[in-house]
Amino acid sequence: MTAPILEIAREKVLENGEGLNQQELLEVLTLPDEHLEELLELAHEVRVRHCGVEVSMEGIISLKTGGCPEDCHFCSQSALFESPVRAVTLDIAELVEAAKQTRKMGATEFCIVAAVKGPTQNLLDQVREAVTAINEEVEISLSASLGILTRDQARQLREMGISRYNHNFETARSFFPNVVTTHTWEERKNTLDYVRAEGMETCCGGIIGLGETLEQRAEFAVQLAEVEPCEVPMNFLDPRPGTPFAGSPPVPQSDALRAVAAFRLAMPTVQLRFAGGTELVLGDDGTEAGLLGGANAIIGGNYLTTLGRPMEQDRDLVDRIAPGRNLGLTPVAEDARPIERAIKNI
Ligand code: SF4
Repeated sequence: MTAPILEIAREKVLENGEGLNQQELLEVLTLPDEHLEELLELAHEVRVRHCGVEVSMEGIISLKTGGCPEDCHFCSQSALFESPVRAVTLDIAELVEAAKQTRKMGATEFCIVAAVKGPTQNLLDQVREAVTAINEEVEISLSASLGILTRDQARQLREMGISRYNHNFETARSFFPNVVTTHTWEERKNTLDYVRAEGMETCCGGIIGLGETLEQRAEFAVQLAEVEPCEVPMNFLDPRPGTPFAGSPPVPQSDALRAVAAFRLAMPTVQLRFAGGTELVLGDDGTEAGLLGGANAIIGGNYLTTLGRPMEQDRDLVDRIAPGRNLGLTPVAEDARPIERAIKNI
């Protein structure tokens, strides 16, 4: 028998395109395992109806890795923890090469990331130089993730050609002080408001499994929906040695899949992108189940501090899920080769 919440979701989300509210999402997150398959099927139907069949693949590159002054408890790039990530800065030629390889693998998005509280003018100037150099050689949509912005910095990024800005809430507002103490949830929200006000697309997501309750997971999904993001990166905690969350247990696969479906039922039209921790928590079979259960985008290749699957493998997975369908990906170029990421050498 269909669970009542799934009947509500079918009417409200699938038929009318409205996201579920917090109480309804909590019901989704607490559905028993026997309803999981049906939940994932509904989330997939919603995704296909409201977003189409395409799967987006994105590459990310870290312009500056490690040495961050903030204390996000999951992050091995914080300079405040005993984490084995050393500070690395890339030069422009390396960024252009990474963008080229990302494009050759068929990805349509390339995101430039820096581990900072917010950008200095010097960093913004470097990003401007990188954007100009990449645009001269590669046809790819450019995003950035450089921390907390002022309105003027958001304007500069839009003017230099950044079309989408990533700034994650990371977790529910009520749980945020358990995760970060060096800045506030409200500072993050202000940045997203500036990004929208300047006409850039917002990309805002976070991490499942930081110790939040299911109620807070539902709260988080609703707070994300409220900032109307174009894209929601969905990470799962991959406990990094040396961080305060080092000993945290990974989220069980079925809980992770329920969260994927719940996020889709909260935000029917967003690009819901698998990011860090996917391999650890979902594995290959769970990633496939998630891409057929609400998610419609992946980060190909490696993440900022952890290794992902090789981009070719992600590409194969996407091709397998919907063979012969137009997935919005371009063919892999013959001379494409795996992207070398600075992080690989750490
Ligand atoms: S998540 Fe970002 S802001 Fe927080 S410590 Fe890591 S790099 Fe710094």
